[in-house]
Amino acid sequence: MLARDGGRAAVEGLRAADLRHYLHPFTDSRALAAEGGTRIITRAHGPYIWDAEGRKTLDAMAGLWCVNVGYGRQELAAAAHEQMLELPYYNSFFKTTTPPTVRLAERLAALTPEGLNHVFFADSGSEANDTIVRMVRHYWALEGQPERRVIISREYAYHGSTMVAASLSGSHMHSQGGLPLPDFDHIAPPYWYGRGRDMDPAAFGRSAAQALEAKILELGAGRVAAFIGEPIQGSGGMIIPPDTYWPEIQRICREYDILLIVDEVITGFGRTGRWFASEHYDLKADLMSLAKGLSSGYIPISAVMVGDRVAHTLIEKGGEFFHGFTYSGHPVACAVALENLRIIEAEDLVGNAAHTGIYLQGRLQELADHPLVGEVRGIGLLGAIELVQDKERGEFFSPQGEVGTRCRDHCFQNGLVMRAVRDTMIISPPLIFTPAHVDELMEKARLALDLTARDLARR
Ligand code: PLP
Repeated sequence: MLARDGGRAAVEGLRAADLRHYLHPFTDSRALAAEGGTRIITRAHGPYIWDAEGRKTLDAMAGLWCVNVGYGRQELAAAAHEQMLELPYYNSFFKTTTPPTVRLAERLAALTPEGLNHVFFADSGSEANDTIVRMVRHYWALEGQPERRVIISREYAYHGSTMVAASLSGSHMHSQGGLPLPDFDHIAPPYWYGRGRDMDPAAFGRSAAQALEAKILELGAGRVAAFIGEPIQGSGGMIIPPDTYWPEIQRICREYDILLIVDEVITGFGRTGRWFASEHYDLKADLMSLAKGLSSGYIPISAVMVGDRVAHTLIEKGGEFFHGFTYSGHPVACAVALENLRIIEAEDLVGNAAHTGIYLQGRLQELADHPLVGEVRGIGLLGAIELVQDKERGEFFSPQGEVGTRCRDHCFQNGLVMRAVRDTMIISPPLIFTPAHVDELMEKARLALDLTARDLARR
């Protein structure tokens, strides 16, 4: 559309201005400039995006794991439009609220797993996780145990980019800015393919969970406030724990009276074929963070679900909670989120993620014979393809990341978005995906794998 309006000069002008003025997230600006600048995405519909040159690309990442209902939904635009005309903004600070804010809180309390009946709104997954850390520490102080401050997380975790959320994340997020902050600790992830293949998966799952117990004993149980984990680690490389992992983690949390924080920012709202991935593992979270699929990325909003135990203490003993954002419970964001949830339910997109997910997982298995592929895994509309140097021995490339990036670039050049985490290719498409979209994805993925293998053979 841009190319149509202003022609090539307009596109180049925009690209040059981008290089001059815009600092992209998670981007090496010098390298971007050396590569000739950015690709400008101008429009999108269904599971497809188009760039300024008019190239059509199948978005098998749903943006950043977020566009669950797909692009171009008129209903969401209408919901925002109507709410902006009715009441574009009001805050919840002055003993005030707005109708969509309350309706969304009520809806989330009904939708999320049992016991999560209170909601605090924020604007991003990072803010939701920051909020949780403040709540957890406040909770333990109110319970007369202020020395319980440590939050235990995992290597390869991603919980966001603010100082606290990056501290919760794995060490790949700690090299800049003097992180982690004090009182954040980490254990190894339940990454069977990467770290546990000398054990049977069930035994590995139990042993990965028992690292939490060892860490609690090392730190002293009286210092530990909470454990945080994504049910399935997304940005860390789509790490699906063995079934033995979460029951053991929950046993340990109960035994040492540690709060359980579940980060469903990626896995929430149907991604895995259930409303929440917690349902696969019967997770009983004390607190849960939600974002991304809550509005399908159409507008920034996140939520902290607070379980009855923590909410009771905060409400009955806490007094004023000195925490909140100008846009907490923003009426337009809440109206869009409500409409988004209505669409997910009306079109049974959770069911579609389960059914089309079975087809996706079956077709992914066909890639297992490719010389570069060590393992494929997935659940619902989440998938991962591990690229390895030695297929028989499952040996990773060294250094990790170069081959994955190369494969990702081949995908992009051939009309497909797959993300690379180290050398793991990630799939997380919109939940409107059909078997025909899966077929298109598989054809383009195989082509990208072949082109990557060809490049490696020429080295
Ligand atoms: N938690 C998880 C599991 C995530 O994947 C992300 C972002 O990818 C976040 C938290 C941070 O969310 P945001 O980027 O909205 O701050």
